[in-house]
Amino acid sequence: MAHRAGYAGLVGRPNVGKSTLLNRLLGQKLAITSHKPQTTRHRILGIRTLAEAQVVYVDTPGLHQRGAKAMNQYLNRTARAAIADVDVVVFVVAAGAWTDEDAAVLANLRRNGRPVVVAVNKVDEVRPRDDLLPFLAELGERDGFAAIVPLSARTGENCDALEREVSRLLPEGPPMFPEDQVTDRPERFFVAELLREQITRRYHKELPYAVAVEIERFEERPGGVSIGAVIWVERDSQRAILIGRQGSALKATATAARKQMAALLERPVHLEVWIKVKKSWSSDEKSLLQLGYGD
Ligand code: GDP
Ligand code: MG
Repeated sequence: MAHRAGYAGLVGRPNVGKSTLLNRLLGQKLAITSHKPQTTRHRILGIRTLAEAQVVYVDTPGLHQRGAKAMNQYLNRTARAAIADVDVVVFVVAAGAWTDEDAAVLANLRRNGRPVVVAVNKVDEVRPRDDLLPFLAELGERDGFAAIVPLSARTGENCDALEREVSRLLPEGPPMFPEDQVTDRPERFFVAELLREQITRRYHKELPYAVAVEIERFEERPGGVSIGAVIWVERDSQRAILIGRQGSALKATATAARKQMAALLERPVHLEVWIKVKKSWSSDEKSLLQLGYGD
């Protein structure tokens, strides 16, 4: 069987369980999808690597907004942009609770033209289970859905069926991300660049090329992002310059970088920075790749 790979956009009105579903599908909590979403404009990628397919789920954290107006604004801006490039749309609805907002989301999906898989979430709340049938029948009558999958993101029931439906709709192709990668790299990479930019601005005379930045830790926490960065230099003397008197220089650099990172990520950042010496990393191809200066 040919390997498939592509993007699947998770779309739906607030509270239907998109974030919960994403975490369930990834088998891992990507807290990034669940807090301070109002201010986040960046889409979040959740990468699921299977033997036969790599599904890159695109979550749209801007969805926690109330009222029809905010919802429309959201749809006009973020949702269309976020799902413009996906291969499949996962339209998440809550079992037995079709609303005008669902209808508004669906109207926008129609324009998108991608195959739509409906994830009918929260079936664990429906008792007896037969009560679900009229809702599913109604959805089935709206034509144009590639599949309708009743499931529970909370219990995990039938989430594997959704994964199968999504996978088979993706284009054939090799994996796009390393198999151990769960979320997208650009944020991390950009964060590293912001720190490197600060160093370059402050020390361009003393340290013209001999600095690389590696992000060792990038963790979503309830209060923001916790970032651990390593600044790689080639000589002990360069390390001393960066640290400064009693660490004052490093502190100033890190503070400036942290502010930039928080602005970029649109959430608070806790930043720890270490400086390490790696002899002649800049002429070592393997070191360069490790530090993210590849492809
Ligand atoms: P989002 O706004 O679409 O991202 O929705 P969330 O993932 O934040 O979930 C909204 C609420 O629905 C939370 O309280 C979840 O715990 C709950 N929820 C999500 N999935 C399920 C499910 O499968 N069953 C039940 N009973 N509740 C769920
Ligand atoms: Mg959410």
